[in-house]
Amino acid sequence: MGELRGSDLTLVREQLGRDPTARFSVVARCAEGHPLVIRNHPVGAGGHPFPTLFWLTCPAAVKAVSRVEAQGAIGRLNDRAEVDEGFARALVAAHETYAAERAAALPEARTWGGVGGTRTGVKCLHAHYANHLAGGDDPVGAWVAVEVEPIHDERSSRVAAIDQGTNSIRLLVAEPDGRGGFHELARDMVITRLGRGVDETGRIAPDALRRTVDVLATYCRRARALHAERIRVGATSAVRDASNREGYERAVLEHAGSALEVITGEHEAALSFLGATARLDVEGAGPSYLVLDIGGGSTELVVGAAEPVAAVSTQMGSVRLTERFFTTDPPSAPELEAMAAAIEIVLDDVEAAIPIDDARTFLSVAGTATTMQAISLDLPFYDPERIHRTWLSLTEAEAVLERLTAMTNAERTALPVMAPGRGDVIVAGALVLVRVMRRFGFDRALVSETDILDGLALEMLAVR
Ligand SMILES: [Zn+2]
Repeated sequence: MGELRGSDLTLVREQLGRDPTARFSVVARCAEGHPLVIRNHPVGAGGHPFPTLFWLTCPAAVKAVSRVEAQGAIGRLNDRAEVDEGFARALVAAHETYAAERAAALPEARTWGGVGGTRTGVKCLHAHYANHLAGGDDPVGAWVAVEVEPIHDERSSRVAAIDQGTNSIRLLVAEPDGRGGFHELARDMVITRLGRGVDETGRIAPDALRRTVDVLATYCRRARALHAERIRVGATSAVRDASNREGYERAVLEHAGSALEVITGEHEAALSFLGATARLDVEGAGPSYLVLDIGGGSTELVVGAAEPVAAVSTQMGSVRLTERFFTTDPPSAPELEAMAAAIEIVLDDVEAAIPIDDARTFLSVAGTATTMQAISLDLPFYDPERIHRTWLSLTEAEAVLERLTAMTNAERTALPVMAPGRGDVIVAGALVLVRVMRRFGFDRALVSETDILDGLALEMLAVR
């Protein structure tokens, strides 16, 4: 899923001159920040089918593609498909992949045609170009890109960072803003559970690997379509601990064109700190921090001020804890007690390892904390603009934990702000957050959307 900010809704509404009828997220942006490509839910308001999965929304890009269409390009491309067998085959494959991608959100939508709803050949270059920018392997979209780009001037060298976690794979494509930060061109996350079972078997499961590599390939194509000059893939806990990580390493080399970086726990902690604290300017925050990064496989705690001073990486992740302690749905009181006791034992070690008393402000990054804040704020959809760098009090966190604990997996999964795949593991993550706050005496947490992924990108931009 890409992201959706409240401001995106406003912009798309202005462009359409009405409310958008289908739910959407933004998969790519122009450097100016406006949506370049959005991803539509296959069914719009009133149950109308919506075959255009990826929609080109930048007005300048739409105009440029229309110009190419007006010059008769659709006819010429269809002629080419008649005689160029390789091109025709790639076009068929693009239609099939597009239909499959749409069907992932709604199985019956597979039969609604391929790119933009077209069954064969080429009908709309806007749809093909949007598919290309979203990371589709689309020969028509790639051809259009050559014809129309650059749309806006691209001033500086762009980079892409991919964070391969235990639970999720995430993408950030960034353009330096000349002031030490960057503009976001794409930010995306899919929960593929690469680390499912690694705790028990020490190995990555073949189906988890396949799911993850599919997303990785799409992310790398999207990064390239957005002209990222370098793609960096950093992997943390699950991959770090898996004995059979060569399969994933090969895929990274093939798709990203760079070697996989296996990030140590210590480096992971430093990157989280960098991403969380970069250009942090919030009333009441600072000047020293404890950063908590609850992951699927591991959880990092870092103390620092301008720089990280001390860090600890623990094996206490939300996926790992869930697999170890929960067998009933919703979890039983004894299961929760056992998990809490295990967390407290880990926190004993944490307390001994890093000087937590030095930290004035508690920063909580990653999906557990941001989703808890979204629930606490009762957001109608997951809006990072409403969540990033806002305070979540201990009382609020406890209330959310209590709510989540009483719900079944299905009920949690159905919450409008819950990312697909997070509903079953968020209770464990929420328990970690609440326990850390209580244990170390923080009565509020500053929740941050920026974390290790931003740290990876900032490091890339710094070593240009
Ligand atoms: Zn634009």
